[in-house]
Amino acid sequence: MNLKNKKQADILIADHQVDSLKLLSKIIENQDYQVRQAIDGEMVLISVETEIPDLILLGTNLDKVNSYDLCKKLKEKEGTADIPIIFLSDFDEIGGKVKALEVGASDYLIKPYGQKELLAIIKNQVNISLKMKQLQDKNNALRQKLKLVEVSQKLHQQIPLESYLLYQAIAATNNSIIITDATNSDYPIIYVNPGFETMTGYSFEEVQRKNCRFLQGSDRQQPQLEQIRHCLQKGKSCHVTLRNYRKDGSLFWNEMSLSPIRDESDKIIYYLGVQTDVTDKKRANKEQQRYEASLQKMNRELHELNQKLYRLANMDGLTEVANRRCFDETLEQEWKRLTREKKPLSLILGDIDYFKRYNDEYGHLGGDDCLKKVAATIAKSALRPADLVARYGGEEFAVILPNTPYEGAEQVAQRILDSLRQLKMPHKASDVKPYVTMSLGVGTINPSLERKAIWFVDEVDEALFKAKKQGRDRLIGVDKQTS
Ligand code: GH3
Ligand code: MG
Ligand code: MG
Repeated sequence: MNLKNKKQADILIADHQVDSLKLLSKIIENQDYQVRQAIDGEMVLISVETEIPDLILLGTNLDKVNSYDLCKKLKEKEGTADIPIIFLSDFDEIGGKVKALEVGASDYLIKPYGQKELLAIIKNQVNISLKMKQLQDKNNALRQKLKLVEVSQKLHQQIPLESYLLYQAIAATNNSIIITDATNSDYPIIYVNPGFETMTGYSFEEVQRKNCRFLQGSDRQQPQLEQIRHCLQKGKSCHVTLRNYRKDGSLFWNEMSLSPIRDESDKIIYYLGVQTDVTDKKRANKEQQRYEASLQKMNRELHELNQKLYRLANMDGLTEVANRRCFDETLEQEWKRLTREKKPLSLILGDIDYFKRYNDEYGHLGGDDCLKKVAATIAKSALRPADLVARYGGEEFAVILPNTPYEGAEQVAQRILDSLRQLKMPHKASDVKPYVTMSLGVGTINPSLERKAIWFVDEVDEALFKAKKQGRDRLIGVDKQTS
């Protein structure tokens, strides 16, 4: 609660003697004044800083800051210069009164003074102080009106003083408002509100009759400027955000709406600019963008990591085709799915011929290399996205061909054999051909719940075994579709 509103006036009493400070405070408080106390000069300064009192009663023997220096200081400072100060002296100090009056005191009382005399002086000074304040308020209001009249004269128009309210609203808004003269080709500024002064640091006096371009400094390469020029030419309004510079050189983002004001004959006579400093908003947007970009990057990395993990869990490290685990899972899934869909499933099992000898001949590393090439060849032969090529075991490979009838599976198997023959990877130790060959078992079935997938795998393995028996480098089929 602001006590000052309730009491007649706010009086600050400063005395280095606590007893006389208390006594004096009591007397004055009884007269319905709001009293604040200070026991040294420093406290007076702090107290005045907090709230300007209507009157100060200043003891002459203050510590820390000497009473006369203190008075001088207050009188020199804008804001405190008008506070009436009455000196209260404990004794008749020679030249004290003159000194006090010289530093700006309103009065100088020497103890013992009568209580009535003191209260009468206080009342006088408070009245003067309050009247001064009222006058100052009126003065400020008049100055505002005068500015309006000046502006109205500059605009060669009679703005009725009732518009004063509107004027005050414009003056009070935190947005920056600029009015430029559209009858002059350089669009000189004829009015800026205090919001403009706060935003840019320039006063009206500094910018009047200037074109707004000074706000851009040397930063003229902004596409929005072209937009403004275009709007001015067409007599349209526009909304742009520009890089502008304050008087102290600091950059700010100026979001502004520019609108033409027309006279009765529809001629554009002014442009009204309403501007908002959106630097913080821009910064927040940038932060947001940066955050989102790093989030996207993290998501990408996470996705790649997931893919890598998936591949590691499902891919054979040497040959980079699916591993046995993936084969088993896929076969189970396809078995169930194709049972439901009543569609055929084909499987190719392949085994490199005389691979033990290959290792003996070309070394284990040579063997590994051969396995990679064979895997890549098989992968190239299975063309549909749903086909799965897997390393089934050491030098054995498997191809799952969902929704593929026997003829299709045989074609894929044949392609594998042919491609290997074309590749002609030397295999001196083979009894079949002087290059690497494979034996394949090919099978097709209509999966059902009566049989398990593993039974089918055994059937195809049986076919592969037959291929080996019959001389290798061939395929043997087992079409179980009808059985
Ligand atoms: P067949 O024509 O009857 O299939 O004769 P084979 O020698 O290929 O048959 P077998 O199954 O007896 O030999 C397979 C050989 O494959 C055994 C092993 O030396 C080799 N092998 C299995 N896994 C790997 C591997 O990861 N790298 C290498 N280099 N060799 C492997
Ligand atoms: Mg084998
Ligand atoms: Mg083999």
